[in-house]
Amino acid sequence: MSEERSLNFIEEIVEDDLKSGKNNGRIHTRFPPEPNGYLHIGHAKSICLNFGLAKRYNGQTNLRFDDTNPVTEDTEYVESIKADVRWLGFEWANELYASDYFDILYAFALNLIKQGLAYVDDSTPEEIAAQKGTPTEPGIANQYRSRTIEENVQLFEDMKAGKYPDGAKVLRAKVDMASPNMHMRDPIMYRIKHAHHHRTGDKWCIYPMYDFAHGQSDAIEEITHSICTLEFIPHRPLYEWFIDKLEIFPSKQYEFARLNLTYTVMSKRKLLQLVNEGHVEDWDDPRMPTISGLRRRGYTPASVREFCERIGVAKRENLIDVGLLEFCIREDLNKTAWRRMAVLDPIKLVITNYPAGQTETLHGENNPEAEGGEGGRDIPFSSELYIEREDFMEVAPKKFFRLAPGLMVRLKHAYIVKCEDFIKDADGNVTEVHCTYIPESKSGQDTSGINVKGTIHWVSVPHAKTADVRLYDRLFKSENPAAEEGDFKDDLNPNSLQVISAFVEPDLATAIQGKGYQFIRKGYFTLDKLSTDDKLVFNRTVTLKDAWAKEVKKG
Ligand code: ATP
Ligand code: MG
Repeated sequence: MSEERSLNFIEEIVEDDLKSGKNNGRIHTRFPPEPNGYLHIGHAKSICLNFGLAKRYNGQTNLRFDDTNPVTEDTEYVESIKADVRWLGFEWANELYASDYFDILYAFALNLIKQGLAYVDDSTPEEIAAQKGTPTEPGIANQYRSRTIEENVQLFEDMKAGKYPDGAKVLRAKVDMASPNMHMRDPIMYRIKHAHHHRTGDKWCIYPMYDFAHGQSDAIEEITHSICTLEFIPHRPLYEWFIDKLEIFPSKQYEFARLNLTYTVMSKRKLLQLVNEGHVEDWDDPRMPTISGLRRRGYTPASVREFCERIGVAKRENLIDVGLLEFCIREDLNKTAWRRMAVLDPIKLVITNYPAGQTETLHGENNPEAEGGEGGRDIPFSSELYIEREDFMEVAPKKFFRLAPGLMVRLKHAYIVKCEDFIKDADGNVTEVHCTYIPESKSGQDTSGINVKGTIHWVSVPHAKTADVRLYDRLFKSENPAAEEGDFKDDLNPNSLQVISAFVEPDLATAIQGKGYQFIRKGYFTLDKLSTDDKLVFNRTVTLKDAWAKEVKKG
């Protein structure tokens, strides 16, 4: 499908640049995560866009860790980010760290000071904020703005040497305190932070701000197209101002709309809160919108890439229906998942005319959607089976093509059975359904001449394995929890996880982690990383149909 669609606006820019011979036809993008959390599906969009562009136009993409804030960053995050980018199917040209540029950035800052374009300010953060003015009123220049170049050089060197405590001074660019763009009102370039950095250790106690690190890193790497999200539009004049004054490689910034998804939040800071406060198991909890969460949930890289392709590249903020993401994984798994039988809410079915204690081995193909079925597996059959409770009714309405006294149904891969009777316990709950089977109706060699409308799944009681099956619902109750007043966590869905004990066919004891399985009629599932031989654990990736869409229609 990527071949058929029209160009997105960034591709149009790239093609124009290629036509005009800009940068000698070189395309170099970068993906610049801050290693302060695990990547989410929004980052996947950015990854697919940056790496996708380079792939399409024979360019390269750098993976650059934007690690200029020592307090929130960690090596664990660096490793998870690398694993996630690779899992999505992309390989970077260079693995780089903004912290590797600290010496160059320091030299850049001195260069600006010596041009009279930066100064050390002793004001408190409150004073700086107050002097900044408002969008309708210009800011005020303070007395530090007129410090001499010599004084600024000395003070900045002293800042670096650790002579001042945190917050005592900052280095600011001398741009324009009356600019209509607040970001141009002498933005802060460096702050003092006596903190240990995950890579540079204790070498530095001053750290560059985003605006004085990002564009400069782009220029150092000679990035041609620096793609970021819309909130950076007002930063662009500053991005260009620094590049212009430093006379470094003229990287260009382009902005697109960030991805927002319904029923979840998409900020590492908020996701970290969910982890730290125990609302979810960890960053890779299958309910999380993180790439690691989606992976554990059973999403495939292809389905995530397809989703990113389908949503396109927008210029305006929007909220994408999570149903589209689910649609993409359903489509993929329908083609690739191996079919198996599992009973999630069991009731016993006894075949009264099948010899008790006898076992028969039936056969089922792995994937009816694939050529040749991708092989198959043995399925043991006996006189006692589990079926779903909902597949039996004491009194059936018209068009109920499953089991009720007198009704016939086909057992998948097995025989046609007829319901003769049922047993109830003292509370009136049905505990057993009694059937007879038609020996000539065996699947694949049916000579019975009987036509039944319904087919149900089952698991043989003496052969069944038990498994914990985790059914997931949306993590939040409202479409856009981030937009709600108050604490977004008040909106958490208390029923987002349901763990049930299910009976599964024995072949699932050898299920492979990372592979998708369709539990026939029940959804797509995958083996959880915590599954053991003694305790099988499956996660439901997605239901077979969009239950939510149906409810909307009904309502
Ligand atoms: P968060 O608020 O979740 O921490 P961030 O933008 O601070 O997000 P970064 O690590 O700085 O996270 O982002 C790395 C890249 O991913 C940036 O180029 C950023 O613009 C992009 N990105 C982040 N979130 C989204 C999103 N929801 N949609 C598209 N791109 C995103
Ligand atoms: Mg950030």
